[in-house]
Amino acid sequence: MLAMRIEKLAISTASQSGRSRMHPLCVVLAACALLSVSAALLPFPGQAQANPASTAIRVTLLGTGNPRPAMSRFGPSILMEAGGQKLLFDCGRGATQRLYQLNLPFNDADTLFLTHLHSDHTVGIPDLWLTGWVMGRKVPLRVWGPAGTKDMMSHLQQAYAFDVHIRRDVDEQLPAAGAQIQAHEVEQGEVYEESGVKVTAFLVDHGLVKPAYGYRVDFGGHSVTLSGDTRASENLIRFAQGTDVLIHEVLDLEAYREADKIYTPEQINKVIAHHTSAEQAGAVFARVKPRLAVYSHFVPLDAPNVLAETRKHYSGPVEVGEDLMSIEIGSEIQVHRPAR
Ligand SMILES: [Zn+2]
Ligand SMILES: [Zn+2]
Repeated sequence: MLAMRIEKLAISTASQSGRSRMHPLCVVLAACALLSVSAALLPFPGQAQANPASTAIRVTLLGTGNPRPAMSRFGPSILMEAGGQKLLFDCGRGATQRLYQLNLPFNDADTLFLTHLHSDHTVGIPDLWLTGWVMGRKVPLRVWGPAGTKDMMSHLQQAYAFDVHIRRDVDEQLPAAGAQIQAHEVEQGEVYEESGVKVTAFLVDHGLVKPAYGYRVDFGGHSVTLSGDTRASENLIRFAQGTDVLIHEVLDLEAYREADKIYTPEQINKVIAHHTSAEQAGAVFARVKPRLAVYSHFVPLDAPNVLAETRKHYSGPVEVGEDLMSIEIGSEIQVHRPAR
């Protein structure tokens, strides 16, 4: 009960932070109190205490970053737990380390959905596949993704044929099924249904990167919708109607223009054109009206203006995501930030 009460405070604190109703010092003190109590209550960073009676879906942000290989935000990846199942969405750099950090049994990490095939969303796949096998997965890795996913998976198997042969047939003789990848290519619509957990893919607009999908997960009368990488998308607004939690990518325009020292101005404009600015995301949230909006996949990694920009159009609850933040969705929505 204590955790629930405190996390409700966390939502209202975050939702007001763009409106300056609370003195900044109070916000800092409240945040410190929250983090210290979280540290005492939670078994390990970011892992919410189990509350199966009221929680339909639990989301853990494994990586909230972008291609930049920083320690502060790992590559894009989100874990969803519902109905005893564990579903992964995207597998950026560090996803496997995050699962290990959560003590998640690797035999359970066998179901992966890809939003699109950009490298920052997929470079963690060989790690999840092979390290997951070495760490105890006895069943195939199942991967759903856009056209091109089957080719990518078959080429990965070719690339790692030596390691698979040695570990499966010669040396440790690990279970053969764990070395397999089962790839499925999705189109818009329902792509997965097991024991009441339903996953629906919908097209988003990631510029020239086609196809690119978002996903909606429904279970127990609750739902979470993920944007994947997209600019502001009418189709996302349509598919996200009535969702409890909308997790959206975001680009901080001002910070990105200052931070990118590598791309040319033309390349920078292309990046801006196929992502969603915080102001645009605020307009999306205002039309979807989720119980909670959450930002993940930050461009750039340090994006200080997103809440103020969001507030131009949206006054509802919004959280700036961080790696290992978890969200429990049921009759209440609880947000747990990792202890520092
Ligand atoms: Zn992308
Ligand atoms: Zn991306």
